[in-house]
Amino acid sequence: MTQDWKNKPESYWREKLTPEQFRVTRQHGTERPFTGEYCEAHAPGTYLCVCCELPLFEAGRKFESGTGWPSFTVPLTPDAITEVVDRSHGMTRTEVRCSRCDAHLGHVFPDGPPPTGLRYCINSVALRHQPSSVGEQEKSS
Ligand SMILES: [Zn+2]
Repeated sequence: MTQDWKNKPESYWREKLTPEQFRVTRQHGTERPFTGEYCEAHAPGTYLCVCCELPLFEAGRKFESGTGWPSFTVPLTPDAITEVVDRSHGMTRTEVRCSRCDAHLGHVFPDGPPPTGLRYCINSVALRHQPSSVGEQEKSS
């Protein structure tokens, strides 16, 4: 019943994901800024992990950072993501991963707006937007 998301073979992800999704989430890639589908998206809803569909971020916590990547002040829940120190490219950054399948999502920086002061800088291709459920919006019928 419970899937072992962290031990899927590479072939599983290559089949499930697009080449760009695979490159970013499984090979720690970064999409080009201002190219992502959700860079300037404002639709309400939830952002899921593109790999395992775990809910990661809420659209209401998304803000315009001007960086060219979707930016959030806080994850949906503290345990939705894992933060890992990343010393690649001669910098010390904090990498953000999906806590369930270890997908690389992006990085978190300490220059976000209040109240958290954090900026979760996430690749669009690592996310899948799920609109708010129709049932919640159309209770009249
Ligand atoms: Zn995941």
